Amino acid sequence: MSLPTLPGNPYGAIPGTGYGTAGPAAAEAPLPGYPLHPAPSALAADAAGAGAPYAAPRQPACQLCGGAPAAELAVRHHQGLFFFMLFRKRRGRFCRDCGTALFRKHTATTLWQGWWHPLSALLFNPVTIILNLRVRSKIERLPEPGPDPFASRQAPGKPLLLRAGALFGLLPAAFVVYILAMVIAG
Ligand SMILES: [Zn+2]
Repeated sequence: MSLPTLPGNPYGAIPGTGYGTAGPAAAEAPLPGYPLHPAPSALAADAAGAGAPYAAPRQPACQLCGGAPAAELAVRHHQGLFFFMLFRKRRGRFCRDCGTALFRKHTATTLWQGWWHPLSALLFNPVTIILNLRVRSKIERLPEPGPDPFASRQAPGKPLLLRAGALFGLLPAAFVVYILAMVIAG
């Protein structure tokens, strides 16, 4: 007895058995009773959400609270501490409220921890702050998130410039601006 084999396949994958490495000709052939793709139907094509009739509408949700809409964000946090520098980034998909909370928390910390290394003060901290401000403008374009199903939404908290850390950080920031202005003025 000899079984049919596919050309170029010495191990003799048999289309329809589900075993063996199927050749290109068999790749398109579904297993009996298990179609790879549902047959297109005129009814489904007309309905909203055709192709995934049982799925929720595709709207990105916040990874902290499940609220929607949410956007991919990366909030940065820089520390320049005399002998070393640390670069941290909180990346993820966040709603407007959780994103605002993260922006305020990390930017406030950056504002007071980021100035205490020369390279940080002159380069990395200003860049971190500018990048975070760009993220904030993205957050502000998000609509208010919907319901908070798990009661896990982050409270945005105090505005950035009402936080003690951020206010304290304005002093070294002003000093850096003053130094730069003196250098530019010669
Ligand atoms: Zn959220």
